[in-house]
Amino acid sequence: MRKPIIAGNWKMYKTIPEALNFVQSLKPLVVASTGCEIVIAPPFTALKLISLRLEGSNIELAAQDVAAAEGPGAHTGEVSATMLEDAGARWVIIGHSERRQFYCETDDSVNKKIQSAIKAGLTPIMCVGERLEERDAGRAEAVVAEQLAGGTRNLTVSEGARIIVAYEPVWAIGTGRAATPEIAAQMHAFIRSKVREIFGDPIAQETRILYGGSVKPDNIATLMDQPDIDGALVGGASLEPDSFAKLVNFREDR
Ligand code: PEP
Repeated sequence: MRKPIIAGNWKMYKTIPEALNFVQSLKPLVVASTGCEIVIAPPFTALKLISLRLEGSNIELAAQDVAAAEGPGAHTGEVSATMLEDAGARWVIIGHSERRQFYCETDDSVNKKIQSAIKAGLTPIMCVGERLEERDAGRAEAVVAEQLAGGTRNLTVSEGARIIVAYEPVWAIGTGRAATPEIAAQMHAFIRSKVREIFGDPIAQETRILYGGSVKPDNIATLMDQPDIDGALVGGASLEPDSFAKLVNFREDR
């Protein structure tokens, strides 16, 4: 059984007071939710204080990125996996398309970041996904396969078992145009087949593959009905406690 994960990626939103208010509002809305793992990814600046507020709750903390270098060392502006763990994060988003597009993230840096994260005991959420022109050119699966292979290069099977994959078609992120359940289902099945090729069947059966890209309270149920969709990575709809709670509670609310 793969327990679903609903993860909120706050991107560069929320000051510390705003983040603390969010958590205070969210906690009672999801306190009885047992159907999925609940993860929020605030900016680095809010991690420690939020982690203190989340103690004893069913909400876990992710960072939005991590240094490739293990450190400690001379890496101005970088935050190591050990530092994230120290600040209370247990998960980390790696290879988000915004980082690939605007901050020179490559499959090689994704691979290094995954290794650093795993060594520090963090659970990596590895993002993959094609751009619109790649899909239109019939290259969506090839692009995703390359990202998966590059990001997991040289990882052992036990390291592979630690990875969560998030399929986030770039054309669906922040556009209000989610992938149809059929498109998402097809790509998730493909991703699972690639994980099987890389790490073997037992790991492929266990690996949770999240869908991300314009997930909202009104479309999450049909997406989650697809057999290989094991949760959601959510941007915009994760920023308000009410809508994020609706995503977490999508089964109860049906
Ligand atoms: C994201 O940033 O990972 C994302 C999926 O954003 P949105 O839900 O806003 O499309």
